[in-house]
Amino acid sequence: MSARYEAVIGLEVHAQLSTNSKMFCGCPASFGGEPNTHVCPVCLGLPGALPVMNTRAIEFAVRLGLATDCQIANRSIFARKNYFYPDCPKDYQISQFDTPLCSDGHMDVESGAKRIRIKRIHVEEDAGKLLHVDNADYSLVDFNRSGVPLVEIVSEPDIRTAREASEYLQKLRSLVRYLEICDGNMEEGSLRCDVNLSIRPEGTENLGVKTEVKNLNSFKQVEQAIEFEFHRQSGVLESGGRVTQDTLLWDAAKGQAVVMRSKEEAHDYRYFPEPDLRVLQVSEATVSRVRSSLPELPDAKEKRFVSQYKLPPYDAALLTGSRDIAQYYEDVVSAGADSKAASNWVMGEVMREMNERAIDIAGFKIKPAELAELAGLQASGKINSTTAKDVFKQMLEKGGRASDIVAQSGLEQVSDTSAIEADARAVLDENPDEVARYLAGKEQLLQFFVGQLMKRTKGKANPKMATDAIKGLLETRRVG
Ligand SMILES: [Zn+2]
Repeated sequence: MSARYEAVIGLEVHAQLSTNSKMFCGCPASFGGEPNTHVCPVCLGLPGALPVMNTRAIEFAVRLGLATDCQIANRSIFARKNYFYPDCPKDYQISQFDTPLCSDGHMDVESGAKRIRIKRIHVEEDAGKLLHVDNADYSLVDFNRSGVPLVEIVSEPDIRTAREASEYLQKLRSLVRYLEICDGNMEEGSLRCDVNLSIRPEGTENLGVKTEVKNLNSFKQVEQAIEFEFHRQSGVLESGGRVTQDTLLWDAAKGQAVVMRSKEEAHDYRYFPEPDLRVLQVSEATVSRVRSSLPELPDAKEKRFVSQYKLPPYDAALLTGSRDIAQYYEDVVSAGADSKAASNWVMGEVMREMNERAIDIAGFKIKPAELAELAGLQASGKINSTTAKDVFKQMLEKGGRASDIVAQSGLEQVSDTSAIEADARAVLDENPDEVARYLAGKEQLLQFFVGQLMKRTKGKANPKMATDAIKGLLETRRVG
């Protein structure tokens, strides 16, 4: 980013709550389904239909509010947000306006070094979905999503860089998954993000004119949109122009934001209290019941992993990013693996396998106790690290216990000095030119000889003993 300006960024995140039914009716809230099959008079906005509050959705929002240290309002009001658009059959959305359910919370990023304040979290219903038909002069509308419960999480403009924004968003996704209130799936739109951004000369405090970028469906798009908008606004100011308060739409294919509407076209939503719903009352008893039902949260778990397992903060942050992976890791350790060795396995081979196959830990074949056994064979020196990775692959492909695979394939590490020396001698005898060059001073060739020795023993030689044997023999030849 330019040295002259800094970005002032706030995020508005919509998270779809994973309740069984919609916010104000009994229709299924699940994603998908044939268009317009999850609908009823309420979510189609038919005259005379009355909304009934989904109390589970309220409880989910309270969970998130408590997990982000928000104040929970004992009385809050739903309001009508009036706008006309084909995806909104009632011509208004039921949302919350001046009395949100949760307010004044925060979330920390950069291992606690940076605090992002959360202004408010309110509950609302989703709109339907327009499907634009190629080469046609009409669009189709699917109301399955109409009335699905959402929370909107509005941050204060405390974010300064694309990286901070991305970390905040990833942390928020991790949190809603820990709390089991939202599946966090950005591709299916369960988590959606709008970016508010203004810029100002570095070292100043006044806020500049902000723009809003909508329609961001991945962490990468959020980062790209921030970089794009920061440079665009810097360019406008540097050329003597003025930033206008526009709403922009992110075009992922072009990698740029295009103006959707200017301030003059901004909606006046004419909010007023929803007359068909009572004031939402959340008692202290409910708040404390929800609080006591919260799981151990990511920040607390991360700290515990550092103190209990003596892990570096990097490992602890990565392992606790997902509740399921953290649980898997703890199961590997309680099955007897060394805590750092288990961390290396989970962060390395296990996560790589999960990424490559796009599976989660529930779909991962090797059970914690099986991985612990493999880590144990390596720790005891029975197999070396190259062999361990090979055994890991075989366990994935064919299943079975690490010790059986090692025994069947004769993969035990060779730690027999005389056997290794014999192989080392053979390697040197086969490469007289390299030996001469080594003795003439090209000592980097040591790795070449060790490599040849490992090849000869199919990777089974104890690497330290192999290096020592080669070195020792070369020295005797120097004397000779
Ligand atoms: Zn319905």
